[in-house]
Amino acid sequence: MRLKKPQGTEDILPEQIPLWRYLEDTVRNTFERYNYSEIRTPIMEFYSLFNRSIGETTDIIEKEMYFLRTREHEEGTKDLLTLRPELTAPIVRAYLEHNFDKTRSFQKWYYYGPLFRHERPQKGRLRQFHQIGVEVLGSYDAFSDVEVIDLAMTLLRLLGINDCQLDLNSMGCPDCRKTYSKALREALEGSVSKLCENCQQRFNKNILRILDCKDKRCYEISFNIASLDRYLCQRCNEHFRKVKKGLEDNRIAYRLNNRLVRGFDYYTKTVFEITHSGLGAQNALCGGGRYDGLIAQFGGPPTGAVGFAMGVERIIEVLAAKKRIEPRGPSVYLAVTDESLKSECYKLLRELRENLVSAEMDYEQKSLKAQFRNADRIKARFVAVLGTKELSKGTVTLKEMATGKEREVELKSLVETIKE
Ligand code: AMP
Repeated sequence: MRLKKPQGTEDILPEQIPLWRYLEDTVRNTFERYNYSEIRTPIMEFYSLFNRSIGETTDIIEKEMYFLRTREHEEGTKDLLTLRPELTAPIVRAYLEHNFDKTRSFQKWYYYGPLFRHERPQKGRLRQFHQIGVEVLGSYDAFSDVEVIDLAMTLLRLLGINDCQLDLNSMGCPDCRKTYSKALREALEGSVSKLCENCQQRFNKNILRILDCKDKRCYEISFNIASLDRYLCQRCNEHFRKVKKGLEDNRIAYRLNNRLVRGFDYYTKTVFEITHSGLGAQNALCGGGRYDGLIAQFGGPPTGAVGFAMGVERIIEVLAAKKRIEPRGPSVYLAVTDESLKSECYKLLRELRENLVSAEMDYEQKSLKAQFRNADRIKARFVAVLGTKELSKGTVTLKEMATGKEREVELKSLVETIKE
């Protein structure tokens, strides 16, 4: 039987790596230019971290968590371990666990890593996928929201993705949300039985999510209901006004979307999403927003915070349609003409590598022609032929593959010649 990877996971093959590396390099350079520092947290965390923050009635918590079984857990002694389904909660945990709230409360962090959600696999929706994201911790200021949105849009632009759509909304604070949920409940009460099955449950558990439902019936039923922005309190309104003005002043185009309610319970005030039309049904590249209540909910002091997460596989999909990056081969391919010279050749190979020249040689005693073919296939820049004649003279024959030019080079100046 052929072995197979688990459903909803992907292998990233060597030929795909150059595009991933291009993305990763651009991400790091851009985030660091905006003065964000990288943080890395464990892939496994305790379950209680997520059900306390994401929300008990969200799809992720109800259906999509992966649990790790160990003997200790079977004995029922500890909190269950899970594979992380998102990174904001782990980052807030790390922030509090290392006492940043007490010592250096303002932090700008970024992350890059894999996440796990037991979703129904389909195009653009995996069970293991990667996210890059940022979190600004310790600020209530509307300019933090502006910076975070600016950074997401700038990063996509620098990657060469200009044709995406930024949607913006405010979900208000828990107070405005409570008033709005009540109004929504009253308005929808008579139509509950006409909503999709999911939304019938949402009506009782998480009513705001009905606004976000993709089902046509639910959309039509909720279409004419007054939107949340009419229920924003004065402070939330003022915050939202500043965010919009900040974006406009910097010519960051957005579309107000009063139906945008993000899937996690912890969001407050600003929420946003960036989509790309080339992606099909799963068209979101990035989602983010403010979560002013989360740090206090985890036992820290009241602390403002805002961030975003981008799906790397989806960005790669958009990039792959626009851009091709050829893998880079070694600088030198050493061609061995005789088995007896192999050990001399290996010494030379090592010397090149010690001198920071990427180099490769053939171990399979192939014909010289086959070695040249191989050098061409792996995109080596030069082929250096080492034969008995060359060895006795202390030289190699160096051929530049792109031009076909050949010359004899002294062994002692090989590194220098190649570096030139
Ligand atoms: P979320 O953490 O759900 O707000 O998602 C943020 C971004 O991660 C989305 O905009 C997607 O680009 C990406 N994403 C979310 N879920 C998946 C998934 N199952 N597979 C691939 N990418 C995903």
